[in-house]
Amino acid sequence: MNHLPIFLDVKGKRAAVVGGGGAAARRAETLLKAGARVTAFAPAPGEEFAELARHASFALLAHEPEEEDLAGVLVCIVATDDAATDARMHALAKAAGILTNVAAHPELCDFVLPSIVDRDPVTIAISTGGASPILARRLRAKLEAAIPSGYGRLADFVRAARSRIAVRLPDRVARRRFWERLLDGPVAELALAGDAARAEAGLIAELDRIATFGESGMGEVYLVGAGPGDPDLLTFRALRLMQQADVVLYDRLVDPAILDLVPRDAERVYVGKRPRNDAAAQGEISQMLVRFARQGKRVLRLKGGDPFVFGRGGEEIETLADQGVPFQVCPGITAAIGCSAYSGIPLTHRDHAQACIFVTAQGKDGPIARDWKALVRPGQTVAIYMGLGRIEETMSDFVAQGVDARTPAAIIDNGARPNQRVVVATVASLAKAARDEGLRGPTIIIVGSVVTLREKLNWNQTGPRPNAGTTRQE
Ligand code: SAH
Repeated sequence: MNHLPIFLDVKGKRAAVVGGGGAAARRAETLLKAGARVTAFAPAPGEEFAELARHASFALLAHEPEEEDLAGVLVCIVATDDAATDARMHALAKAAGILTNVAAHPELCDFVLPSIVDRDPVTIAISTGGASPILARRLRAKLEAAIPSGYGRLADFVRAARSRIAVRLPDRVARRRFWERLLDGPVAELALAGDAARAEAGLIAELDRIATFGESGMGEVYLVGAGPGDPDLLTFRALRLMQQADVVLYDRLVDPAILDLVPRDAERVYVGKRPRNDAAAQGEISQMLVRFARQGKRVLRLKGGDPFVFGRGGEEIETLADQGVPFQVCPGITAAIGCSAYSGIPLTHRDHAQACIFVTAQGKDGPIARDWKALVRPGQTVAIYMGLGRIEETMSDFVAQGVDARTPAAIIDNGARPNQRVVVATVASLAKAARDEGLRGPTIIIVGSVVTLREKLNWNQTGPRPNAGTTRQE
């Protein structure tokens, strides 16, 4: 280990910063955040210092420090941008026995200033022992992404509750288990989201429940949207909920790469075998969710795209609501949005469309008759879900109802996945083009003049085919 990692309490203590540039100002700010009384020595302070002047614990002196200026100083940071001045200031501070850091001169440093992930009061400090600031920054970016932004709020919540819980649950092991479960569950989610009042109510309810039923009790269902396929398109919250699951129910549209992110030991239940509009299958899934939750499990109901967009997510959780099973819903990127981005076809564009309609022609009891003329019209984009099976009928209906047969149309197969394919055509030619390409689905059909924008905006050149998977049929 190159350095001893310590968190230094500088509250009310004196700190000196020498230098007038942005680097010095940033360091002064960090010291102020930690509660130090900061004196900056800067003969020519930059404008960054103006902000700091608001702090009651900040003083700016327009000269270099002398020996007597440093009396009582605990730490000194030098960042003057001038090697000779840096060395002189370092010698002065060292002579006074002060812990000193000189920016960009690791050989002159008693301590390093780590990269910080700030979730006050939680602070994570990263050092590579001077090996590589870039590496430290990358690590920091990873942690920033992995740790919810509300983590500080969660820490405050736990701090406020700790002594109360210790009184209610004197047994140390029981107490640890309680906290572990609480921090993985809905109460922690509420605290993270900043809803302190409901988190507190949840905590009390949890304590009461333990008093009545003992340790294990009701689990919870997470209805999570997994997006169109690319695991990079999951939300942080989706990933967090996925990683807490004891059991996962998933269907056909969930990409295996996404399923890999669920804990290895979680039970996996495939519920996509039955036909899509099999009502009995739907009821069975809802009942399964209830049953697992009643066993005290955290149940992940993973859905392709967004659970509330043609996902029957609403129907599944209605049963949960009826039966008093707690649940949370986490949105996902719906297929039309994913296909739009990954095919370079914006759904709205001020020159083309000011509205966008998500529609399916597939109802609970089979095909639905639609007034296509009202939907497919200038200034409006239509994204059709579940449209491949009856694409011929749908496109003929368009024309029969008076939609212009030359309206641009595209079909995106396996959108936002490595095997994405896009066929660009018109209303008149789309069905044949899709069949000629042998598309199997899932697909989104996009109809409207925005489709022409792909010619310019198709950034997504990856894919299994050399021509980026585009076929054009006019
Ligand atoms: N809840 C999902 C939709 C489920 S309905 C969502 O929000 O995306 C199933 C339909 O979604 C499929 O028939 C197809 O039309 C569309 N779909 C889902 N994933 C897709 C993908 N990767 N590419 C193209 N279409 C997709």
